[in-house]
Amino acid sequence: SGNHSSLPLMQVTTEKMSNRNRDFSEKVVLITGSSGGIGLATAKYFARCGAKVVINGRNPVAIAKAAEECQCISPKKYRALQMKADVTKEDDCKRLIATTIDQFGKLDILINNAGAGAFGSIYDPKLLETLEHMINLNVKSIAMVTQMAVPHLEKTNGVIVNISSTLSFKPNVHFMPYCVAKSAVDMFTKCIAMELGPKGIRVNTVNPTAVRTNFQAATGAGEILDGVLKHLEQTNPLRRIGTTEDIVNAIAYLTSSESSFVTGHSLVVDGGSVYV
Ligand code: NDP
Repeated sequence: SGNHSSLPLMQVTTEKMSNRNRDFSEKVVLITGSSGGIGLATAKYFARCGAKVVINGRNPVAIAKAAEECQCISPKKYRALQMKADVTKEDDCKRLIATTIDQFGKLDILINNAGAGAFGSIYDPKLLETLEHMINLNVKSIAMVTQMAVPHLEKTNGVIVNISSTLSFKPNVHFMPYCVAKSAVDMFTKCIAMELGPKGIRVNTVNPTAVRTNFQAATGAGEILDGVLKHLEQTNPLRRIGTTEDIVNAIAYLTSSESSFVTGHSLVVDGGSVYV
């Protein structure tokens, strides 16, 4: 009978813990690139946990749909703030932060998620162009949004999570400009974690392996990458690729009080594929 009674008890304990640590009610959470993919799954997680979320992307139709989904699952039916803004543009970033503060009065959590991949190798005649684009989109945008957000995060003991990739430390012949950019995201994160720690702000990265989203199509080679994803599935020690929920779980940990002593860290979420 001991077995029968201990199981429900354990479940209650787990539920209580997650209620205590994973309560984001009244928190203001800005997720860049949250009109689809990992960003949207993240926005929905925070909305479900009672947060006030800011939805961002470049397509107003996708933004409106994402905002509606967030409002539906919000316990108090909070309206998500809809922000069409290109994170590579300074004026757009300024407006993104200013409107967030205007609307919600503060910023607690910043998830720098907007980004995309691109092919490029040393023999590519357009390498420098691609490299510049990758750095603008994946690195400079994060630096820009973060710089504008820090004064507000100082007031809330805020948390930042930057979405990097396993390609930040696993070299790839076809994706060199993306690898270089994501590598910079990891080091940017570690450097500012040193600087922002004394200000009460934690900064970490989540480094996912492949997740099936619009990322593959946005990279411009959906069909080739479909074959790559199948290969990754077969060779992954856990015999699957990542899901958006896998990445959300890592973000949830890094933004909750459970990780209050974790900063400057890169949390790899890849089923162990880095060792294959
Ligand atoms: P998606 O393409 O599905 O989503 C990207 C999101 O970012 C969309 O909402 C997109 O909307 C938005 N976005 C793109 N460019 C900009 C911009 N310039 N300004 C504002 N918003 C923008 O990709 P994922 O969800 O897969 O990718 C999210 C993050 O995860 C990226 O940083 C990516 O590098 C990283 N990652 C993804 C992996 C994967 O396999 N999927 C693996 C490892 C890391 P719109 O285009 O309408 O602006």
